[in-house]
Amino acid sequence: MTDYKNLIDGEMVDNGEWLEVLNPANEQVVGRVPASGKDELDRAVAAARRAFKTWKETSHEERQQVVQGIAAAIKENADELFRLLTTEQGKPHAQAQQEIYGAAGLAAAQSTLTLDDVVNQDDDTRLSRTRRVPVGVVGGIVPWNFPIMMAIQKIVPALVAGCTIVLKPSPFTPLTTLRIAELIKDVVPAGTVNIITGEDTLGPLITGHPDIDKITFTGSTATGKKIMEGAAGDLKRITLELGGNDASIVLPDADVPKVAEQLFWSSFSNAGQVCIAAKRIYIHEDIYDDLSKAIAEYAKTVVVGDGSQQGTGVGPIQNKKQYERVLELIQDAKDNGYKFLTGGDKDPSGTGYYVPITILDNPPEDARIVAEEQFGPVMPLMKFGSVDEVIERANNSEYGLAGAVWTKDTDKGVEIAEQLETGTVWINEFMQLSPFAPFGGHKQSGFGAEYGIDGLKEFTYPQVITVKRDAAV
Ligand code: NAD
Repeated sequence: MTDYKNLIDGEMVDNGEWLEVLNPANEQVVGRVPASGKDELDRAVAAARRAFKTWKETSHEERQQVVQGIAAAIKENADELFRLLTTEQGKPHAQAQQEIYGAAGLAAAQSTLTLDDVVNQDDDTRLSRTRRVPVGVVGGIVPWNFPIMMAIQKIVPALVAGCTIVLKPSPFTPLTTLRIAELIKDVVPAGTVNIITGEDTLGPLITGHPDIDKITFTGSTATGKKIMEGAAGDLKRITLELGGNDASIVLPDADVPKVAEQLFWSSFSNAGQVCIAAKRIYIHEDIYDDLSKAIAEYAKTVVVGDGSQQGTGVGPIQNKKQYERVLELIQDAKDNGYKFLTGGDKDPSGTGYYVPITILDNPPEDARIVAEEQFGPVMPLMKFGSVDEVIERANNSEYGLAGAVWTKDTDKGVEIAEQLETGTVWINEFMQLSPFAPFGGHKQSGFGAEYGIDGLKEFTYPQVITVKRDAAV
């Protein structure tokens, strides 16, 4: 078992108090991280504030070089990092590898983003231009499903915009993040990136800290609301990436064998613990029987198990609380007599938070397993008759994160996409985020956006400078 340390002001430090981190595949302790509180936070924020004075004056090229250094450090150590990620998060090695390389790729791509000045007026009377200035010290709060991707998508735009950051990983998955902290310690100027770990109680201390200017948060909608309240005291800027209950709509012209496998992975990747996973799959009645059978058949070929073992397709649920919640949703479906195409029973093996792949056959729209975000390897398939009906059903959610339409007629797909109340819609693919396109939720799935120029702008204020040209002075 290894002890990992906080990164504060360019140094790896601990406070002698520790949190244990479990491997969800076997419930064994795999590492310890500092149980940080107000003292560590105050030191990290003070370091970030000091560093901000000089970092905000750096050129785009200097920032780009530092961010590219982060990307390189992750890539060069990818082998070690993805194995550690599987150990603490549970996802199979191949998916952990994708996350690590994806995070390095995101950092490299986003290092190229620039916020150029915009000229508002340029004539004989005045020159008016808008420049973007960094907001200051950012507090980043990250969940346990994609700990590295989420950390990088907060650290990188903060640095590119000229901000400094104090980042808090989830207490369930802090190890790989602190290992990356160690790897980038000498890559980033001291104080620009600080990473401190602690229980959930560290979160509200960050949200309420008087010397933090902005919060960027990814996590549940319930916590997002608390953050919005906590940030209201001094009107901190906020970006919230929250929950989703994404609908996939499969039109009757879709090729059944081809989409079956893709639909499966759109739901079961990372054991379903993906904000933008397909959580409700609506299949046209003409192909419902064939497609639901094909998905269930494919599901039987996928192995549920320890993510470090070759051949595992679906790993354990990341933590006990979430495991119990998923089992509760499955029990509710059983209690209500809904039909299962596969799964539905708890793994009897004892240790590890394993849930068998569970697919429900046309449960009602108000079933908990349909109406709530499952965040586990559970997928309800539902039958629909008309496009108007399915759009209404898809939009009948407090969430509005993403969705997908599957059809050979891509014009029709786009027509449906334009009627969906979500921040992202894919036609004939899923979970594809571009470093250059804004990603954010409508309704209760979020506030603001990450990625692209829109995401970068959220780390800045606009400042308008106007020069009067015909002034009588
Ligand atoms: P969570 O809200 O429980 O925790 C997220 C983070 O917030 C953790 O670091 C936690 O320690 C911290 N936290 C907890 N209470 C806090 C408080 N009162 N104030 C401040 N911080 C606090 O979420 P989770 O269970 O870790 O993640 C699962 C949720 O995240 C799902 O709902 C999922 O859809 C969502 N998610 C959204 C996106 C997205 O981009 N929209 C991406 C991934 C996950």
